[in-house]
Parts: sequence; structure tokens; C-alpha cells
Amino acid sequence: MVRTRFAPSPTGYLHIGGARTALYCWLYARKTQGTFILRIEDTDLERSTPESVQAILDGMAWLNLDYDEGPFYQTHRFDRYHEVIQQLLVEDKAYRCYCSKERLEKLREEQMARKEKPRYDGHCRNRTEEAEGSFCVRFKNPLEGVVEFDDLIRGKLVFANTELDDLIIARSDGSPTYNFTVVVDDWDMKITHVIRGDDHINNTPRQINILRALGATLPLYAHVPMILGSDGKRLSKRHGAVSVLQYREEGFLPEALLNYLARLGWSHGDQEIFSIEELIKLFDIKDINRAPAAFNQEKLLWLNQHYIKTSDPAHVAKEFAWHMQKLGIDTSNGPALVDVIRAQCERTKTLREMAERSRYFYEDVLIADDMKTHFPADILPALQTVRDQLSALPEWTKEEIHGVLTRTAEANSLKLGKLAPSVRVAMTGGTVSPPIDTTILLIGRERAIARLDQVL
Ligand code: GLU
Repeated sequence: MVRTRFAPSPTGYLHIGGARTALYCWLYARKTQGTFILRIEDTDLERSTPESVQAILDGMAWLNLDYDEGPFYQTHRFDRYHEVIQQLLVEDKAYRCYCSKERLEKLREEQMARKEKPRYDGHCRNRTEEAEGSFCVRFKNPLEGVVEFDDLIRGKLVFANTELDDLIIARSDGSPTYNFTVVVDDWDMKITHVIRGDDHINNTPRQINILRALGATLPLYAHVPMILGSDGKRLSKRHGAVSVLQYREEGFLPEALLNYLARLGWSHGDQEIFSIEELIKLFDIKDINRAPAAFNQEKLLWLNQHYIKTSDPAHVAKEFAWHMQKLGIDTSNGPALVDVIRAQCERTKTLREMAERSRYFYEDVLIADDMKTHFPADILPALQTVRDQLSALPEWTKEEIHGVLTRTAEANSLKLGKLAPSVRVAMTGGTVSPPIDTTILLIGRERAIARLDQVL
């Protein structure tokens, strides 16, 4: 039975690299009808914050990446870590190291001077006399041989044990260290597949050695290559939005971001658009690319627009409502959100843009001074006619409204292309909107007339 976990450290927002890892873990669990676990690696008390935990939970919820177990918090598991540290000490698989900071510093300097990699020299591992004072606990890493594993993405990887020194598993204050807590958790949670960023690849042989010492079954490992910015450097804030929730703010649909992240580093032929169901069916770890992928904002926008246009408007409306609320627009009095979405979806790439351009459906418009040139004296009689005819329409339909505009243009010897822009500015305060008949329809009769009155 497959068991995967997403194990973020809550030291910042949930960034899109993390979200992609979470997605791959989630997809693989869903595909295999396995279990997906969320584990919050919050042992770094100085850098972990409750806000960041919340941002991770909110990001996961927004992306709809639901977990079957957890969230587990490492800070709630200290008793368990201490128990395993004791076990390793008793079994002589770990030892107390009393080396002072000064000694370690000196050792380091000497090694650096000899151009050697700084590493612990095993002083306390070999110590025979009693020692006292403060100590940390180190794992007895095997002294020879290699650690070998078949990475599901990278293939066979081999590390010499002579390259790995005796890792500190408990600090002098007794707190367990990062590589150790991961091991205990992966073991206790019976993780079968560790899918994570390849920045952890050098931790893996250390973790494998500890797992072996504990007699644990080893999980399989898949190290996912990083995401690069457009300049080929590791993706970071410099490149723009990197937090999942910021993508929400910018007006992306979760399915667009998921589709994008799935394809960023994984492929199935040259298919670009995948529903979640398709992803679950088609995803496989072995198809994750070995090379790092470059982030492409244009493609993400393209996908977003695709999903805005093709998704059920009722579904889009839930996210759209969030944006309207963020902008402080009260949508209770005005057209149904689904109708606004249908009218606007062809011309906006993000929901935020759509929300910003939909204010006039719900709120009074102010005609800025520089817009007043759209109302020359010779157009005013036509606007008056439009006003009166809209008021007298027996039925408030798009066709009827269209009829009013064409008849009025004709009667005033105007091209519709001359009349419509003025009407549009009167209705919306601006020069961009859906087709004018649809726009008027959605604004509603009462408001439409009031706006023409305002201009007249
Ligand atoms: N907590 C680690 C991180 O956020 C992930 C560790 C892992 O997946 O093993 O980078």
C-alpha cells in the first residue's frame, strides 16, 4: 500500500516548488489508492511560525490537495524522538559527544587549511575515558562501504560512507535534529515513497544509514529537480509571485495552477491540458523529468484563461466571489456572478482582472473628466433616445436592447460604431467592456437609465 507524505517546514509561505512536490505526492497516492500524509516539520523553533503553518494549510485547501492523515506536527513528537535516541544509545549505534565548540572550531580550521572537507573526526566515538559536561548525541555512521539507492527519477546513486561523518541527532539541549526527525517520522508513518525536492539529495544517504540502524524498511526515493526562473536561476521572489496564495490573489484558478505545476517537470506526450482526473490516471513518478524546469508565466496565464473560459461558470463563481469581496464590491444587488463570468471570460486572463473590470455592474460609475470627450453635443439627442427607448422596452432582453441601439443609430444617421462607445462610457465609465447590449442587459434597466440621465 503506497503511503506518501508532504513535509513542509513552516518557515515561510507555501511556495510553488513546495506545491508541486505536494501535488506529485498527492497524485501518486490518489493514483495508487494509497494514503497521502501532511507533516509539518516545525522543529526549527526559531524559524517556524504559526502564520506560516496557516499559509501551508490554506494553500493546500485552496489547491484542493486533501490529506488522509495529519497534519502531524513534529513539535508534538519530541517524546518519541527522545525514545529513539535512547534506543540508539543503548544499542551502541549512537554516542555522546562532549567535544567543545572550541575543539570543533579548531578541527574545522585545520581541515580547511589542509583543503579537506570539514567533518567530525570521531574523537568521542573512539574515546575510552569518561567525560563530563554538556554533550550532543551523534549517530555512528558506518565507517566504510557505500550507500546505494535507486532514485525513481535519477536512477542509481552511490555515496561513500567515508564522505559522511557522524551526524548530530540530538543537540546539547536535547532537541532532535532535522535529518533525524525525518527518519523517525518516515519510519513511524510507514512511508513507502519519499517524493521531495532534490535539494535534499545529500540528506538521503544519511537518512538511509539511520533507517538501517533502526531496522526500518527503506522507502523508495524520488528527488524532483528544482524550478528555475526565466533567467535560468533557481526560482525565487525576484522572479515575481512564488507563494501559492499570492497566485490566488492574482486571480488564478486552482485547477490552472495545478495543471501548470503538474506539467512543469512532468509530461505525457505533448498534451498540455489535463483535468485532475486525467492527471490521477496518467501521472507516474518515472515520467518526472530529470532536468530542472523553467517557470513560464505566459503559459500559466494561457492555462488560466483556458480554465476561466471552459470551466462551469458556477464553479468559477466561487473563486470570483472571493475576488469581488476582496475589492469590497457588494454583489448582492446586481447581476448573477455566473452571467458576469459568461460575459467577461473571453477578455480577461485572471479573475482579479475580471473583478476589477466588473465593478460597474454593481456600483455607480463616475465619469472622469477625460472621458467627457465621449459625449459631444451632437451625440446627446441619440443618447436621450436610447434612454427613453430602454425605459419603454416591453422586455429586457439582449435582442431588444440591441434593437434600441441600432434603431437609434439609424434614426440619427450615426454609425453604431460611433454611438456604442458613448453609451459604453456612460454605462461603465470606461472604454472596455463586453458587447454593449450584454453590458446594458447585465447592468439592469434602472441603473442603465440612471447612468444615461447622469450623462445627459
Ligand atoms: N521539510 C523539508 C522541506 O521543507 C522537506 C523534507 C522532506 O521532504 O524530507 O524542505
